[in-house]
Amino acid sequence: MAITIHEADVLVCGCGLAGMRAALSAARAATGGPAPVVVQLGCSSGPTGSSFANENNALGILAPQTPYHAELLERRIVEIAGVAYLDRELVRTLLEEGPARVRDMEMLDITFRPERHAACFYPEAQVARVVDGLAAMHARFSGACDAAGVRRLDNMTVVGILRDAAQDDRVCGAVAEDAAGERHVFVAPAVVMALGGPAPLFARHVSGRAATGLGYGLMRSVGVHLGNTSFLQFMWYGGAPRRFVSVAQACGTGRCADTLDAPLLQARATHCPYAWHQPDNAVDHALLVCPDLLEDGQLHLYAHAGNGGAVVDVRARTNVSGLFACGECATGMHGANRIGGAMVLATQVFGHRAGEAAAELSQGGGTLVGRRRMMKPDGPYGEWCDMMRLDGGVPDPVPLPLPLVDTPDSADILAELPRLLERACVPSGGGGQDEGGCGNPAAEGLEAALQLALAEQPLSPVGRLQLLTALELVQHRLRVPVACPS
Ligand SMILES: Cc1cc2nc3c(=O)[nH]c(=O)nc-3n(C[C@H](O)[C@H](O)[C@H](O)COP(=O)(O)OP(=O)(O)OC[C@H]3O[C@@H](n4cnc5c(N)ncnc54)[C@H](O)[C@@H]3O)c2cc1C
Repeated sequence: MAITIHEADVLVCGCGLAGMRAALSAARAATGGPAPVVVQLGCSSGPTGSSFANENNALGILAPQTPYHAELLERRIVEIAGVAYLDRELVRTLLEEGPARVRDMEMLDITFRPERHAACFYPEAQVARVVDGLAAMHARFSGACDAAGVRRLDNMTVVGILRDAAQDDRVCGAVAEDAAGERHVFVAPAVVMALGGPAPLFARHVSGRAATGLGYGLMRSVGVHLGNTSFLQFMWYGGAPRRFVSVAQACGTGRCADTLDAPLLQARATHCPYAWHQPDNAVDHALLVCPDLLEDGQLHLYAHAGNGGAVVDVRARTNVSGLFACGECATGMHGANRIGGAMVLATQVFGHRAGEAAAELSQGGGTLVGRRRMMKPDGPYGEWCDMMRLDGGVPDPVPLPLPLVDTPDSADILAELPRLLERACVPSGGGGQDEGGCGNPAAEGLEAALQLALAEQPLSPVGRLQLLTALELVQHRLRVPVACPS
């Protein structure tokens, strides 16, 4: 296998709203030194991910205009966080810096219309705005990145993060595979993870094109502290072609409406996703065991977006030196649940901060490892190959004998993974499996199978990352208390 080496000051992985913002802010950062060389990797060309290719073709963004609104929002973010990790400093940063980042988007000629109805989980505040036409928004961001000198490389799937044992295990780059399966090593002292969330790994999900769900696995593979990882947003969808179904509609379709408590239904009508740790999740549980809906088989909870990710500080730094995370790859600015529009705002606030901090680090002493040492068997790339049980070593025009073919067993687990993950992690309402804290045989069984597969099977890099992401979700699901369905 031929390996190509590239160098960058800042490497941004992902081309959604978080990755675009991070790349742009890194390239424009005033570091006092020469302009940083920013390379941005995406696993496909054109609009991708939940940001630019979601099926609504629109996105809401929270836009608190006054300190009063920011304070109300902060209170609500805390109220709905549930039993989850939340960092008040990140919440305040999100709300205080949000308006400036919305103005940045306006400077890119992105136009918003006011949202007259609800900001999900906070309808009375009416502080959201909406962008229609995601391909056009993608064109604005990519045009700005091009103008700022960002080198965007499409069709590069990031499959590994490199750490350098000789430099306190700091991050020193990443490995990607191109569409032909050739491997590329990117040497960089600052790496930004903006790969989106884990929803694409579920059997039923609504993530946008070229979303992979590999981000948690990649970060876990290098020891990044992760939080809130199984707190995904799940929403009701049904019909063919698939469409979003509000809970009021869902309740109207079955006999189960009679059994539901009116105040709970009213509370449930204030937000689209299933609500972790909130009393109104009883409505979803009732729907999940409603015979009409089950017989019909039409309506299901679909994985929509993750609320978990890397635990970061206000500069979007993870615990691993040189590694930053933003957007759906990061958490702490919201807990188990989040207000509608808060994620898009988070992509901009923490994408910007990640880009600036990464640029600063790359200029201020993050030393690039020597290219030759990088590729030696005991250098970072060799160590990564070792960890992945691939043959590492100095790149050579002679193809490396890489045992990339999955064995039948791991192939079986990977083929079944979306369905298994759904059984283990989608709120069940007690209709088959129990939730975490009440015993969850599906999650326990999957955890054991994943451990086994990861320990014993030779896997492709992507397969391994899928299993690692799934393990992260399942272990979090088993660890955190979730209300037992009554
Ligand atoms: C249908 C839908 C509607 C939504 N509506 C709203 C809303 O109104 N308001 C709101 O706040 N949030 C909303 N969300 C959530 C929000 O859109 C996302 O959380 C947010 O856009 C995520 O941005 P991101 O940049 O972190 O990830 P993404 O936009 O998902 O981008 C991830 C990028 O990484 C790339 N990638 C992934 N893996 C790899 C890899 N291994 N190598 C290289 N590249 C890779 C992808 O191709 C993509 O370019 C919605 C989500 C969905 C699915």
